[in-house]
Amino acid sequence: MEKIRLGRTEMMVTQLGFGGIPIQRVSEGEAIAIVQRCLELGITFLDTANGYTTSEERIGKAISGQHDGLILATKSTAQTREEIESHLKLSLERLGVESIDLYQFHNVSDANTLKTILDPDGPMAVAEEAKRAGVVKHIGITSHQIDTAIEAVKSDRFETIMFPFNFVTREATEELLPLAREHDVGFIAMKPLAGGMLDNVTLAIKYLRQFPNVVFIPGIERVPEIDEIAQILKMTWEMTAAEQEEMERLRQELGTKFCRRCDYCQPCQVEILISDVMSFRSAMKRLPPVRLFTGKFAEALEKAADCTECGECEERCPYHLPIRETIAENVRLYEAGKKEYQAQLASR
Ligand code: SF4
Ligand code: SF4
Repeated sequence: MEKIRLGRTEMMVTQLGFGGIPIQRVSEGEAIAIVQRCLELGITFLDTANGYTTSEERIGKAISGQHDGLILATKSTAQTREEIESHLKLSLERLGVESIDLYQFHNVSDANTLKTILDPDGPMAVAEEAKRAGVVKHIGITSHQIDTAIEAVKSDRFETIMFPFNFVTREATEELLPLAREHDVGFIAMKPLAGGMLDNVTLAIKYLRQFPNVVFIPGIERVPEIDEIAQILKMTWEMTAAEQEEMERLRQELGTKFCRRCDYCQPCQVEILISDVMSFRSAMKRLPPVRLFTGKFAEALEKAADCTECGECEERCPYHLPIRETIAENVRLYEAGKKEYQAQLASR
């Protein structure tokens, strides 16, 4: 599998990496099988986070005894020295390693948070001490907010930047990507499939391959998904006119206000699976009724009726999505669709 240089870290990593968010949603056995399949395919860059509940521990179990050649990346949302110290310790334990190749400040979304991190006595100082001690090899940052990401790259304190990037969410191409290149900061594309919203995986991967120094880390929930992407990587990345047109059509269809399934809005006080509920409208376009009105979607939508409209999730959503409004709308869609589905079943 093709490797590229991750900016000034000088680490050579596979352009296709593994995003560790979705393995929280499956069983431990399935999670381990997914990570091990990634290793079999030759993927060497695995990304997770302290905040992804079971993800680090599951990756740790999957890679046990096979660390050689792997580049492990994890993250912390810590804003104090104490917090980062405990997060780092926990990540090392969960991953079962003595050092972390890339330690990233997670989801830094405004100038104040960046300032707090970079305070001479703040979390960056701890990360740098850990780097001097060899416990952390490189330090990066992740953000969903373009101005903060630009400021972080300009600060020259981070060796990598992770930012959402796919053929619909392309704001990084304007300034951030050229700036990262100029500062030799490694660029990691999160949400290469827009959090599962881009069904046309071939187009999504071909688009990103046009950027030779970008590592992309799709979140993988099932083994066939990573197999499919690995196959696509063997194709030419040049797009036909028809593919360009299809990409444009999908851009128009999805717009910019869609849920990336990042789960930063969690936890919900009444345990609503917000991202499933938010994705219901698009799921209706591609899934058969049995998948919508029974099983996981049905459970999520039934539960969504309990929303208290507290608004806490909206404060946490980095894309400022109108979650409460969308939940109410999708519950209405679900109820109407369910009635129709039940009527169809009864008439058979
Ligand atoms: S507004 Fe609804 S979905 Fe959001 S956190 Fe509150 S209860 Fe949960
Ligand atoms: S609603 Fe916002 S925070 Fe929640 S999963 Fe969607 S994009 Fe992420």
